[in-house]
Amino acid sequence: MSVYTKVLIIGTGPAGYTAAIYAARAGLYPIIVSGLEVGGQLMNTVEVENWPGEQGGTTGPELMLRMDKHTKEFVPEITNDHIVSIDFDSKPFLVSGEKNEYQAESIIIATGSTARYLNLPDENKLRGRGLSACATCDGFFFKRQDVAVIGGGNTAVEEALYLSNIARRVFLIHRRDQLRAEKILQDRLMAKVREGKIDILWNTEVKNYIEYQGAFKGLALINKADDILFDLPISGCFMAIGHTPNTEFLQNRLKLNGGYIIVNGKYQNFETMTSIPGIFAAGDVADNKYRQAITSAGSGCMAALDAEKWLQLNNI
Ligand code: FAD
Ligand code: NAP
Repeated sequence: MSVYTKVLIIGTGPAGYTAAIYAARAGLYPIIVSGLEVGGQLMNTVEVENWPGEQGGTTGPELMLRMDKHTKEFVPEITNDHIVSIDFDSKPFLVSGEKNEYQAESIIIATGSTARYLNLPDENKLRGRGLSACATCDGFFFKRQDVAVIGGGNTAVEEALYLSNIARRVFLIHRRDQLRAEKILQDRLMAKVREGKIDILWNTEVKNYIEYQGAFKGLALINKADDILFDLPISGCFMAIGHTPNTEFLQNRLKLNGGYIIVNGKYQNFETMTSIPGIFAAGDVADNKYRQAITSAGSGCMAALDAEKWLQLNNI
């Protein structure tokens, strides 16, 4: 099946939903494609405390469910499909999904990013069998057991705090001697360290996974400060070492920087335009600096306004 639209929005994170609300209210009848992760990355977190207006905080899934409902007031149907390629030379652009084909006069790419793993031997085999990148999804399986979190950013600290309420002991393993996470989270982390719920292993890197008969049994580690190798027997290990932008379906046709889509390279009046006119990008997929829900939503709004203006200028 092939469907025509003036604006195709790819992704249902904060950027995609916001773009959809703005494009629909501008009378553009956008099609919004959800991808495999309806609601995006915030579906994997518990507390969201920095969304303005949510005094007292909310949870990621609650916030995203409300964005979904809000979007459906204007775009009744969200298409469940995963985009695999775009023909940038055809006009309208021809977009292929696993289920449908789309002819789109303009496209807003809001495909966010995906959690990274360490790329060590046996990783694929151990994923879901002790290795995970989502504590809120899988933490429950490690009740009163020892687990580790790898990383030193906001995600790592949030995951460690979350797991400290479930697991017996949590090891936060960071490759440097300073965290990247924001101060409020670091303060909470240190309180848990004082309580004896979390241990931080500074300057420590994972050399290998320890496995036995296909099951994850622990980590082989190295302390880089004094070059000491040691094993840490644990039941589960959570990756929080950053994310890779979801751009593989673009087949390198758009200009990227470190995998992130470059916007506003050429067209000064369209802050969210990519290297190909008519293609816009918003949210984490085009942002290697801020990567917040609110900045993603903000750039989703900008992309919809840019797409509207660009369609008008081109009499579409
Ligand atoms: P995403 O949320 O990543 O959504 C991407 C969307 O694109 C998904 O719907 C996916 O299915 C879709 N998609 C991907 N590829 C395709 C494809 N090929 N075809 C179709 N669809 C596709 N930020 C905060 O501000 N506050 C927080 O408290 C906070 N907590 C966080 C906790 C964790 C554990 C993590 C990982 C992140 C957190 N963040 C937080 C960051 C925040 O989640 C991101 O900045 C935000 O979700 C980015 O939104 P986005 O719309 O750009 O992309
Ligand atoms: P991040 O900020 O990029 O941090 C990644 C961490 O992993 C860094 O500490 C990094 O170490 C470490 N790391 C990277 N590669 C590694 C490797 N190969 N081996 C070992 N360690 C490695 O990623 P993030 O924490 O997922 O956060 C992503 C974005 O989402 C950020 O903008 C963040 O602010 C946002 N976010 C916000 C909240 C919130 O607002 N509450 C919560 C979660 C995420 P170095 O420090 O040495 O580089």
